[in-house]
Amino acid sequence: MMFSAFCPTHDATVLMTKRNAIGFENTDHGTVIHWRCNCGHEGTLDRNGSHAEPTRVMHSV
Ligand SMILES: [Zn+2]
Repeated sequence: MMFSAFCPTHDATVLMTKRNAIGFENTDHGTVIHWRCNCGHEGTLDRNGSHAEPTRVMHSV
């Protein structure tokens, strides 16, 4: 499984694999993927595209 999402920290669209997918959620609008970029930025991806969390300093992982 591979997907891409826009990462504000990278300021670019980043190609991600299943290792970046930290969760899945089934909603009325379909499956939503919760992703974490290699840099630690998190966001979601749904049928309308990616929705990154607001840019902030993160030290997760
Ligand atoms: Zn990133």
